Amino acid sequence: MRNPKHCVVIGGGFGGIAAALRARKKGYTVTLIDRCPMLGGRAQVYHKNGYRHDAGPTVITAPFLFDELFELFDRKREDYVQFIPLKLWYRFRYANGDTFDYSSSKEDLLQAIQAIEPDDINGYQQLLQASKNIYETGFEQLADQPFHKLSNLLRYTPKMLQLRSDQSVWQLVCKHLKSEKLRQAFSIQPLLVGGNPFDTTSIYNLIHFLERKDGIHFAQGGTGALVDALEQLMQETGINLSYNETVTQIHTNRQHMVSGISTTKRSLDCDMIISNTDPAHLYQQLLPKASVAWSARTKSRMCKKSMGLFVLFFGTTKTYPKIAHHTISLGPRYQGLLDDIFNKKVVADDCSIYLHRPTATDPSFAPPGCDSFYALVPVPNLQGKQDWRTIGEQFKEQILDNLENTLLPDLRAHLDHIFYKTPKDFQDDFLSPDGAGFSIAPVFYQSAWFRYHNLGEGPKNLYLVGAGTHPGAGLPGVLCSAKVLEHLLPDQNSSLIQNQNMQDTLVT
Ligand SMILES: Cc1cc2nc3c(=O)[nH]c(=O)nc-3n(C[C@H](O)[C@H](O)[C@H](O)COP(=O)(O)OP(=O)(O)OC[C@H]3O[C@@H](n4cnc5c(N)ncnc54)[C@H](O)[C@@H]3O)c2cc1C
Repeated sequence: MRNPKHCVVIGGGFGGIAAALRARKKGYTVTLIDRCPMLGGRAQVYHKNGYRHDAGPTVITAPFLFDELFELFDRKREDYVQFIPLKLWYRFRYANGDTFDYSSSKEDLLQAIQAIEPDDINGYQQLLQASKNIYETGFEQLADQPFHKLSNLLRYTPKMLQLRSDQSVWQLVCKHLKSEKLRQAFSIQPLLVGGNPFDTTSIYNLIHFLERKDGIHFAQGGTGALVDALEQLMQETGINLSYNETVTQIHTNRQHMVSGISTTKRSLDCDMIISNTDPAHLYQQLLPKASVAWSARTKSRMCKKSMGLFVLFFGTTKTYPKIAHHTISLGPRYQGLLDDIFNKKVVADDCSIYLHRPTATDPSFAPPGCDSFYALVPVPNLQGKQDWRTIGEQFKEQILDNLENTLLPDLRAHLDHIFYKTPKDFQDDFLSPDGAGFSIAPVFYQSAWFRYHNLGEGPKNLYLVGAGTHPGAGLPGVLCSAKVLEHLLPDQNSSLIQNQNMQDTLVT
């Protein structure tokens, strides 16, 4: 008989939540600590004047990855939170006012493609097939497998080269589609995980097939309701949760194994740590230098970060029924704008906007007769040296001008409230290095073995999950990073006393 081992999870993003549940299932005593006032990491929820705003993810793909977390404990996700499958996934609006509806019905989609470029019907089918091929390797075989051994890289390199993973998403899309408008619509997926379609590896084209296979969903009550459901599951399974607490240091012993932490509130011993903080923050700020392997030190210095995000939240005193739930309003420039954001790191006069209107699906987000919105705009991360405290207001006005000229004509006259978050807030709120929206960028030389490993690069009782680790950012990515730990965490359930503790907690 031995006491269950104590696992501390640093950070309560979706990666941390999923990892805590998986560790609990394996028989660990689990304590999850997050510096934010609520669980969810980037999926915080803001409340204002009777309006609600999900701050981060809104598009749910691969819903089965959430179902699995409930099934671990013989629960059903539907008993905690409902997923609503959307019919219209995204409406694209181009600078000339044309629109393109990307919808769940393949028939409707083919008609919409036909209306733009009839020759692209065949090309689209080929692109979908290419995406399926990538999915079958990139997602089904690799996404939830450990990738810290060079042998994995060598094993899968021929297959990845055969799938032309060295190509960019843009190159693959251009191979199949002629229309510039459709090329843009079918290449934006990397932006959802922090990458420039012009240099993101075409592995990320798998997102397209992932969407088609399982659909795009919205959680009833918003992503915040999904976080609440997971919080309830964590409480029912006996995971200790602590918010408004920041881990300031990880302690290691003489063998460079982690042995405990210091936080803004206390010191705590533990047998292992799962880190859901950004890997660069983990290796540069939390661990003693001597316990960090050269590989992690190098990555922390050299890795290319994802872009930053400017997110404008507002409520309106009227509804805009013609605005879809998810609208992507593309500006006059595509490659040039992305080059400004990712490479030159300058704030341009033009922009592209993802407009989220949850009230289109779930009116509970705003008082009756009103709408809740956020407008998400990719901007340079803090390596661009912009002082967002100075330029934030001006940029807000630029976005409002854009929205009034495109989607929401009389917006300023109907604002109930408005506030925004900048890359500086991502740095301050989530300790995201350089205020990056999605940790490190999803380029080829930062993927799979080259990405931060899920097994600590240094202490061997340290594990990593979340956007900066294999397989990558986005909800499916970070849930898979936690699934990788299934292969790495030793099972504790052999201890009878441990099993009994677990049973007792589950009964309550
Ligand atoms: C605006 C926005 C929209 C998005 N939209 C989508 C979408 O629609 N669909 C999708 O799939 N993905 C989307 N994404 C991406 C997705 O949200 C993220 O990739 C994912 O949620 C990141 O999860 P994570 O596990 O890496 O943790 P994070 O969400 O990054 O959470 C990590 C947590 O750890 C905490 N932390 C860090 N350091 C410490 C410390 N030292 N002590 C205590 N706590 C600490 C942080 O404060 C944070 O709460 C979006 C992202 C953003 C920002």
